[in-house]
Amino acid sequence: MSTIFQKIIDREIPADIVHEDDVCLAFRDVNPQAPTHVLVIPKRPIVSLETLADDEAAIVGHMALVIRDLARQLGLAEGGYRVVVNCGADGGQTVDHLHYHLLGGRPMSWPPG
Ligand code: 5GP
Repeated sequence: MSTIFQKIIDREIPADIVHEDDVCLAFRDVNPQAPTHVLVIPKRPIVSLETLADDEAAIVGHMALVIRDLARQLGLAEGGYRVVVNCGADGGQTVDHLHYHLLGGRPMSWPPG
């Protein structure tokens, strides 16, 4: 069954898209946890970091560079930001399509909940 993120990739449901290229898509989280909260997802239907294949390293490497550039474009680079990947049940993953949370615009606390 298609995940909600696959539906966003396929334009079956709307999203506030801030970046798109051949490899990945970035859009604002519908339930933001910080003043800026963007999700960066691969277009390939990778379920999680746990299922990431060795030959998919270039995809996540590319996504890291997109996150770096988005942080600059969205005004987060100077003040700092947080990048989160929730993986599996204990990690708090709720959508079975790999996604990087880019959070910024406020100080972050540690440890996470
Ligand atoms: P997870 O908990 O799996 O790490 O993160 C899933 C994220 O997807 C959550 O922050 C949630 O708010 C976001 N989300 C879930 N459904 C939608 C949606 O339909 N549109 C957008 N833009 N974000 C969504």
